[in-house]
Amino acid sequence: MVKAVWLRAFFFLFLLCSVTGPVWIFVGRQQAWETFCSGLLLYLLYHLWYLAKLMRWLRGPLDARVPRGFGVWEMAFAGLHRRVRIRLEQQNALARALERFRLAGEALPDGVIVFNRHRQIDGLNAQAASHFNLNPATDRGQPVTNLIRQPEFVAYLEAGLYTEPLLLQNDLQRGQTLQIQVIPYGDDQNLLISRDISQLERLENMRRDFVANVSHELKTPLTVVSGFVEMLVDDFDAYPREDALHYLGLVREQSGRMQRLIDDLLTLSALETSRLTPVDDRVDVPALLQVIFQETQALSGGRHQLEFHCDGPTALLGCASELRSAFGNLASNAVRYTPDGGKVVLCWSGTAEGGAAFSVADTGIGILAQHIPRLTERFYRVDRSRSRETGGTGLGLAIVKHVLTRHQGRLEVESEPGKGSRFSANFPPSRITA
Ligand code: ADP
Repeated sequence: MVKAVWLRAFFFLFLLCSVTGPVWIFVGRQQAWETFCSGLLLYLLYHLWYLAKLMRWLRGPLDARVPRGFGVWEMAFAGLHRRVRIRLEQQNALARALERFRLAGEALPDGVIVFNRHRQIDGLNAQAASHFNLNPATDRGQPVTNLIRQPEFVAYLEAGLYTEPLLLQNDLQRGQTLQIQVIPYGDDQNLLISRDISQLERLENMRRDFVANVSHELKTPLTVVSGFVEMLVDDFDAYPREDALHYLGLVREQSGRMQRLIDDLLTLSALETSRLTPVDDRVDVPALLQVIFQETQALSGGRHQLEFHCDGPTALLGCASELRSAFGNLASNAVRYTPDGGKVVLCWSGTAEGGAAFSVADTGIGILAQHIPRLTERFYRVDRSRSRETGGTGLGLAIVKHVLTRHQGRLEVESEPGKGSRFSANFPPSRITA
């Protein structure tokens, strides 16, 4: 390009000389000098004109169009135009990359806050804003400890020991536990990551409660069994035969209790670990319920008035053993929680939506409304001692709920204390078969 400028300058001089030469020869020396100087003046004006255009463009806004030129100035402006275009493209690519990073940050399930060594916020994503009630538009530049003032959080930042995360019970959102980790990076920058671990905490608490409950449930009968066995082993002859038999009867009762608990635990565990949907066998429900009715009669031992009505569909798609366990639990509960002389009615019928329902209605002790939502929790009992006396494990309705969920069914409970209860297992039309 520089060469082209010189070439054009020489070409202009050559052109000027080739005009002034003939003027010198044919008109005179004086006129030749005048022509030469006029040419140079015009050339100077041409450059000054475009220089002024360039200065005006330089002083103008950044996105102003590069002016058009003529001759060498056309080349100069074209070069400038190319540079401006490349710079704009680079800027756009950078802006797009930044936008992609910003969107990736927004898509993160964790909260992210970037802050500098003065703890001033440089940026944050939507999750962090929701965890700490921050405003991404106005809180930038504010010290993070001015906005998140919980003493444990401030102490964590002040200590500057970020090898271990901080577990923070979020004051701003009840029941929320946040795991906070600060990662220093680059030039005195810090990345704060906040993760909502409330669900994990709840699961961990449930697991802990479950282990404690199982241990507690097993401990009582085991203590009784080992106490009587030790007593008899130590001095068997010291006890009359009837007493010994009575103690052994108690041992058998407690062993049965442990056996039932372990059976229910195994059933629950099998339900939880088996495939998401149970096998879709054709289950002959009337036949299954007939067996359950006989078992219920045996359990009642004639102490209750029992009825069985069956006018529902002939079969369900599902798993026979699971349905048997669920229906059996509902029927045995009705007998166990209904005083002698009461009535228990088992009923298999179609529903208005085209599905089917197995319901068990009793005239038993009933349940206060506040307990109903919790009945399907493992080991939840309204009356612990009554449940134990009647051989309950506290797991029956948890099993029922699992089985129904696996069959896309739902459990409905209506109850009135002192009057009785009605438990219905409802199945959708998709489970009905001929
Ligand atoms: P349990 O082995 O203790 O009976 P379940 O899970 O089967 O455990 O039932 C949970 C609790 O629900 C029982 O302890 C009892 O308090 C209550 N319950 C269940 N069925 C009935 C019913 N038919 N009448 C009254 N209370 C019931």
